[in-house]
Amino acid sequence: MSLSGTYDPSNIFAKILAGNIPCAQVYEDDRVLSFMDAFPQTRGHTLVIPKARSRNLFDTDPEELANLIKKTQMIGRAIETAFSPDGIVITQFNGAPAGQTVFHLHFHILPRYSGDEMAKHTSGQMADMEELNTQAALIQAALYNN
Ligand code: 5GP
Repeated sequence: MSLSGTYDPSNIFAKILAGNIPCAQVYEDDRVLSFMDAFPQTRGHTLVIPKARSRNLFDTDPEELANLIKKTQMIGRAIETAFSPDGIVITQFNGAPAGQTVFHLHFHILPRYSGDEMAKHTSGQMADMEELNTQAALIQAALYNN
């Protein structure tokens, strides 16, 4: 059962946390990292991950989870300020059959814009890093000016 497997330290988010793969960073503190999704489903698609190792929502420490959702709310508010979306989807997948592809716990923040389609999960096109860094800077401006 994939929900109770062993954490694989070679997953892509572990490599991002270790600084071995670049990301368009939005936010970092001692427990959380947030960065732009490299294959965005919508403009402003952002990920929020804990630094503590867990595969999914069910094998994470409840305190870590509580902190993670608080930070997701904080970053989601900044995304609302930065992009003025008409709605925001927060998603999180547990296990491959549920759609999870990276086995390090994360929340997706997906701004939605009236009339705009959302690309299907994992079918977004790879984004230009410069554009992702520009978007991350907009979110940071909203985070730190509030
Ligand atoms: P999951 O399918 O596990 O819920 O979500 C994994 C997310 O990670 C996907 O939305 C995918 O686009 C994103 N992703 C995959 N590889 C990378 C990467 O190297 N960098 C970044 N920033 N996002 C990635």
